[in-house]
Amino acid sequence: MGLSTPSLFVVATPIGNLGDMVPRAIEVLQSVSLVAAEDTRHSRQLLKHFDISVRLQAYHDHSNDADLDGVLAILRGGGSVALVSDAGTPLISDPGYRLVDAALSEGFAVVPIPGPCAMVAALSVSGLPSNRFIFEGFLAAKQHGRLQQLQALQREPRTLLFYEAPHRLLASLQDMQEVFGGERRVTLARELTKLFETVKRLPLAELCEWVAADSNQQRGECVLVVEGYAGDGQKISAEALQALTVLTEELPLKQAAALAAKISGAKKNALYKYALENLQ
Ligand code: SAM
Repeated sequence: MGLSTPSLFVVATPIGNLGDMVPRAIEVLQSVSLVAAEDTRHSRQLLKHFDISVRLQAYHDHSNDADLDGVLAILRGGGSVALVSDAGTPLISDPGYRLVDAALSEGFAVVPIPGPCAMVAALSVSGLPSNRFIFEGFLAAKQHGRLQQLQALQREPRTLLFYEAPHRLLASLQDMQEVFGGERRVTLARELTKLFETVKRLPLAELCEWVAADSNQQRGECVLVVEGYAGDGQKISAEALQALTVLTEELPLKQAAALAAKISGAKKNALYKYALENLQ
């Protein structure tokens, strides 16, 4: 880590449960010359909890150049800086990009202090494929823009992750149902690491009903993890998919689809189309 060389530390902080603060984050925050924080009042509470007294300065990506320069001046003078956001990992739907970019451009070391991140935590408990995924951040606040974004993702095969504000959760789920269909599975990960932590995986249509029926589900912070598009595979049984996956490793797609259809009773064409779109 080397505090002897001026470094910008990008420090993750808890997303609810203060027990998730990593020891290395505490060490770094204790030793830097300045903490650049999204909201100084918020971060002051966190620092107070861990008994850390250090100079704090507000930093956003829309901060003026003088603020950015103020942070860089510490590095230029040989000091180190820690960047924190209100919760989780800075730069993940949070400020910091301009600062990291500028620090790297000036040749300073930029050091991650990894820790909590809501989307990673949500993905890890979503029960949806996690080998390939895309993170979309927040959807547009207005319905027109939101629908356009969702339509562009309609045939995206990778698992999709969204942050959403509680008061827009139901509207976004309803728009997702319109675009992705009611069968697509979604995991709502709400209030992670907090008292009312909820992880609920349901087909979109059922999740919409569940959220609509319980206003408590429209409170707090949430991540939506949406199953990727599986083409006709959505209607293919798990048994057929397993046979198809194994057979395509050994045989040409057409032959694999024909054999998997014989084994499982699924439609040969649907299996072939699925293999073409997903398995080659
Ligand atoms: N940088 C943060 C991170 O690493 O996760 C995210 C910051 S973003 C401004 C805030 C959004 O993250 C919330 O609106 C919510 O979608 C999600 N989020 C943050 N904390 C959460 C939690 N405890 N449970 C579920 N979602 C959370």
